[in-house]
Amino acid sequence: MRMSHLYAPTLRETPAEAEVVSHQLMLRAGMMRKAAGGVYTYLPLAWRVLKKIEQIVREEMDAKGGQELLMPIVQPAEMWLETGRWHVYGDEMFRLKDRHDRNFCLGPTHEEMITTLVRTDVRSYRQLPLLLYQIQNKYRDEIRPRFGLMRGREFIMKDLYSFDRDEAGLSESYNKMYDAYSRVFSRCGLTFRAVEADAGAIGGSGTHEFMVIADSGEAAIVYCTSCDYAANVEKAELKALPAVPETPQELAAVDTPAMKSIADLTAFLGVTADKTIKAIAYRTEKETVLALVRGDHEVNEIKLKNSLNCLALDLAGDKELAAIGSVAGFIGPVGLKNVTVVADASVMNLSNAVCGANQMDKHYIHVNPGRDFTPAIVTDLRLITESDPCPHCDAAIKTARGIEVGQVFKLHTKYSTSLKATYLDENGKEQPMVMGCYGIGVSRTMAAAIEQHNDEHGIIWPVAIAPYHAVVVPISTKDQAQVALAEQIYATLQAAQVETVLDDRNERPGVKFKDADLIGYPLKITVGPKAVNEDTIEVKIRRTGEVLYYRLEGFATKIK
Ligand code: ATP
Ligand code: MG
Ligand code: MG
Ligand code: MG
Repeated sequence: MRMSHLYAPTLRETPAEAEVVSHQLMLRAGMMRKAAGGVYTYLPLAWRVLKKIEQIVREEMDAKGGQELLMPIVQPAEMWLETGRWHVYGDEMFRLKDRHDRNFCLGPTHEEMITTLVRTDVRSYRQLPLLLYQIQNKYRDEIRPRFGLMRGREFIMKDLYSFDRDEAGLSESYNKMYDAYSRVFSRCGLTFRAVEADAGAIGGSGTHEFMVIADSGEAAIVYCTSCDYAANVEKAELKALPAVPETPQELAAVDTPAMKSIADLTAFLGVTADKTIKAIAYRTEKETVLALVRGDHEVNEIKLKNSLNCLALDLAGDKELAAIGSVAGFIGPVGLKNVTVVADASVMNLSNAVCGANQMDKHYIHVNPGRDFTPAIVTDLRLITESDPCPHCDAAIKTARGIEVGQVFKLHTKYSTSLKATYLDENGKEQPMVMGCYGIGVSRTMAAAIEQHNDEHGIIWPVAIAPYHAVVVPISTKDQAQVALAEQIYATLQAAQVETVLDDRNERPGVKFKDADLIGYPLKITVGPKAVNEDTIEVKIRRTGEVLYYRLEGFATKIK
């Protein structure tokens, strides 16, 4: 590729709208442009990177027996009504109507689509297990899309679905995918951790999130310095929660601070105060859940079975939270037992989850603390921190921030039951298929790679996903000898399958070097007087800054 021809409009200035470094650098390196909030065009450099990530993903899925297919983006409402998710999914779902007024959505995920496909064609245990996947745009109308490709409203996902005969089969499929995911992210050159996450509403055991370690990550994780325990902070359990008072006498004896402000609550929870933090607490027959709603994060997992009492703490005076039909205006201590802290929660999803699951939203409008539920006292409720011991082995734990690039999830029979996806077992008996789902954010992975690999000059691509491996920069395009040699090197590298850009622009060397560092090619080959006169070709390694010198002869094979 010749730079004079490449559509990579680089920018000198950092665009004001970009908050995180991956977004800034992708705009500056001419990799992406915005079409609408959370909707982007991938320019040629970005598209090359995405295709490489996709190829790695494809190879690893295929290696585990995955079969690629492609499902529609436009999905009819009927199948979503069958699972009940048409109403539960909320505003994150892009909905549309056709000319006959029929309801459709743009797929935010494909459990409904794949399960209705498989239920029609798979009848016998002999046809299982099945691992089916696609790589495709997904659509989620995120409450606040941000950070460029990190949280888009249109983004690329690889989603695989496993169908097994039984739980043992599911475990096998799950382990295969866990292994494949580890291989994918290693091959992409990323530092990551698989952490235990909360299975939430779907219930059952078994879900891991794959987190790329980066300070800009939205998720907080803990991991043990000794054993292999790792979890996101919401899932991570404190070794021992203090006893919770139960009787009125015990309750009265506890000197609990009244939580009158968000600062009181966050101090009490031991989390960083955040202007946008909100909380909702509700007590169920079995447990009480406190959800922290931070910024634009969303609720993925709330246990809502048999909610008896619900109390919303409208700490931030948020209208949407009040609209849950809660107890606007009421601020005070709440009784919590066996508390689960759920972070990453959006107001919108939360309201849907609460109303959808209980259909008691109206009930809560004029709820009267004391009459409608028992206000009690929060005792020592907090998220796990580095001062806690590992819940498994007591060793020290560390915390880090992470970007969720993938998640593996045991669905068990949730969708096969509601969608009646059954097969006949060896005895001719009808059984529900046992399912898992496994997602990788392909476009988010590209952004995460940049978050982890950059410096003040620009991107530093891991070789496996670099848009090109090398750039050849003649110092002066007016010097015919330099130009001729640069062309020769360019041709040699291309022939050796080193993906190369020739910066043939009539620009000052400084401009070309700056763009080379910004775009982040792993190798920069400078062709100046030294190369022409002394047969000494300078190769600079972007990651280390190391400079190596080569003769022209055998050059391409040596730098490979
Ligand atoms: P998040 O917690 O960040 O909202 P999620 O848990 O809702 O993500 P999943 O349903 O697990 O996402 O989807 C699988 C993968 O798709 C995620 O691990 C992530 O890498 C990617 N992904 C999800 N939402 C987005 C988005 N809005 N933009 C880009 N990638 C996304
Ligand atoms: Mg989400
Ligand atoms: Mg998530
Ligand atoms: Mg997830």
